[in-house]
Amino acid sequence: PDSFLSVRDLRVRFSTEDGIVKAVDGLSFDVERGKTLGIVGESGSGKSVTNLTVLGLHNRKSTTVEGEILLEGQDLVTTPEKELEKLRGNKVAMIFQDPLTALSPYYTVGRQIAEPFIKHTGASKKEARERAIEMLTKVGIPQPKTRVDDYPHQFSGGMRQRAMIAMALVCDPDLLIADEPTTALDVTVQAQILDLLKDLQQEFGSAIIFITHDLGVISDMADDLLVMYSGRAVERGSVREVLREPRHPYTWGLLSSMPRLGGSTSVPLTPIPGTPPSLLNPPSGCPFHPRCTFTDKVSGDRCSTERPPLGEGRAAACHLTAEQKQTIFIDKIQPR
Ligand code: SF4
Ligand code: MG
Repeated sequence: PDSFLSVRDLRVRFSTEDGIVKAVDGLSFDVERGKTLGIVGESGSGKSVTNLTVLGLHNRKSTTVEGEILLEGQDLVTTPEKELEKLRGNKVAMIFQDPLTALSPYYTVGRQIAEPFIKHTGASKKEARERAIEMLTKVGIPQPKTRVDDYPHQFSGGMRQRAMIAMALVCDPDLLIADEPTTALDVTVQAQILDLLKDLQQEFGSAIIFITHDLGVISDMADDLLVMYSGRAVERGSVREVLREPRHPYTWGLLSSMPRLGGSTSVPLTPIPGTPPSLLNPPSGCPFHPRCTFTDKVSGDRCSTERPPLGEGRAAACHLTAEQKQTIFIDKIQPR
């Protein structure tokens, strides 16, 4: 298959004063070349940790990583830091929720866009400045030739986000990891940035991992979707499949806690009762069982004793039968 990135049975643990945190616990997924994988889940579901690990940005001293992160066949788990440095900002790049974590206040925007270009391509300062202006133009910054010499504080929040995207794309990465890239922006600017990302993806052909807690955003951005809970994937499929006919009670909860897509925003939000599980002491069996309202539909105490596996392809890690997954969704969840 044409998997550009293939993550297999990833386990990420870190030691804290209180014990071992299982941040990612047996996660597998693929990202195809030029496609967008959405990863959705509440905070603490492991979605950000997963992606920091892909970039090798986890704290190596206190963190144990097992499994494989294959980027075009190269295992990033065993790749030395020096080699990873050559990949980061070059073949793989990242944009964050807050541009100020990526942009330094002390240097001009242009210099910061130029820097990775010089580092990875060996371009001259003059060439890199031209490239920075070209990138600012591509991301829709007006008067790029003057703006290139501005400092981040002279940009609006939306413009800083655009500048960070310019910096991420300056070396034409094959994989872009976007972690809640529009969460801090108002709705109008958010829509503009998402449109921009889609346009740039067309132009650059990058694969994107788009991390969010917002299923509304994902429906517009992603081809495939991975729903994470408690450091594991609980549902996987194309965005269409998962949003039209979700098969996991956790996904049902996420969907019913968001306003209808394109519908009235006056639909009351019904958040999933309970709190995300502790990663120090994850629940036995299915990690969602303390919050799940369907455990009585599964025979015996399998929900609390037996971990439901996630199959290959379109799948949901839940002990309900295929028929139950369909009928419960259609009867109880869908019509509101
Ligand atoms: Fe709910 Fe049981 Fe399915 Fe887990 S396995 S989601 S607890 S029904
Ligand atoms: Mg996060």
